[in-house]
Amino acid sequence: MSKVPAFHSVRETDRKVYHDNSSCTEGNNIEKENKRSGTDGRPKCEHCTRLS
Ligand SMILES: [Zn+2]
Repeated sequence: MSKVPAFHSVRETDRKVYHDNSSCTEGNNIEKENKRSGTDGRPKCEHCTRLS
């Protein structure tokens, strides 16, 4: 598990959360074109919370 700078997905169908762990499957599934850095004021993904 490793912590990475916060990022989130801008895709409409994705959950409105941010990720900060490189082991998060959901975070890893975000396509490059939909990935943005920062939290966007969103709550943290529960998978990332568990991994950190
Ligand atoms: Zn996550």
